[in-house]
Amino acid sequence: MTATSFPPQSASAADSLVDALSGFIQEKTQADFSAIRSNQSLCAALDFFWHAQIRLLDVASPSTKRLQFCAPGKPSFFASVAPDRVRRPKSSANGCCPLCDYSLLSQGRQVGVLHGRFRFLINPFPFSERHFTIVREENGHVPQGISAACVNEVALTLGARLADLMELASELPDYLILHNAGAGASLPHHLHYQALPRWRRVYPLEFAARHDAGFFNVPSAYPVAFFVFRALSPVAVLAALREHWLDLLDEPGHAAASVIATNGNLYVVPRDTRVHASFPVACLEALGEWVFQDETSAREASHQRLWEWLASAQDQALRDLVQ
Ligand SMILES: [Zn+2]
Repeated sequence: MTATSFPPQSASAADSLVDALSGFIQEKTQADFSAIRSNQSLCAALDFFWHAQIRLLDVASPSTKRLQFCAPGKPSFFASVAPDRVRRPKSSANGCCPLCDYSLLSQGRQVGVLHGRFRFLINPFPFSERHFTIVREENGHVPQGISAACVNEVALTLGARLADLMELASELPDYLILHNAGAGASLPHHLHYQALPRWRRVYPLEFAARHDAGFFNVPSAYPVAFFVFRALSPVAVLAALREHWLDLLDEPGHAAASVIATNGNLYVVPRDTRVHASFPVACLEALGEWVFQDETSAREASHQRLWEWLASAQDQALRDLVQ
């Protein structure tokens, strides 16, 4: 082991010191997290992790401005403004991946905590407090997309993700677990999920689906077609998705989805990588929660415009499949 002089004599010495400190913080945070998890819920252990890390990182303030858009007889939409999210790091194909090297995620060396096969990281551009990014610990640097030349391969990939999402949702009952599978992800090169504390008792998509389970395609009730499953196993969900969507596709190479798992319910909004929505539609927008990067755009929005933007995430051919 090489001794590091203090104060550091060069940039590389300073880097080694920061690396050593980060390593120490990583070990200590993991040990404390595991100790709490051994006799408390995952929510409680993550609560500790959030508070321990938030002091060390330059995390953008969560958006607090909340706007509501109403129309008679239709679910209301909600919007918030999060100007800092334009600074989010993007992944590139050249090896600089913020989910492989957490130090690229934020000012300060971010650490993660390991829980089973998942690693939790603090989202440096959160929608709310305790907004986590979740990556697979092993073989994690695979694309978010699920498209493949053969439908069996699409189903295999999607099935493994559904199992992950449903497991996470059952362990985090007060959270939404979100996954943009090939549509709407800002870091498309590295598979990841998001865990976000539920700040609304019923989201607009849930309101539209409140009486039904199955295949939801009522254009007057919600602008996108979706599937809702209640208390089913990942195998049963995948079988239904194959029968009513994947096996009907002419070209599975364009299959994508926004998936939202909650404690007990799973929502799947089928997407097609060739269809580009008028406004970026990821899981939160599919739920009926819009995130704007400036207040002027948020104030210029209207219920009708949000409805049309959401509807533009699917084309008629895809909507026709969901029945
Ligand atoms: Zn990566």
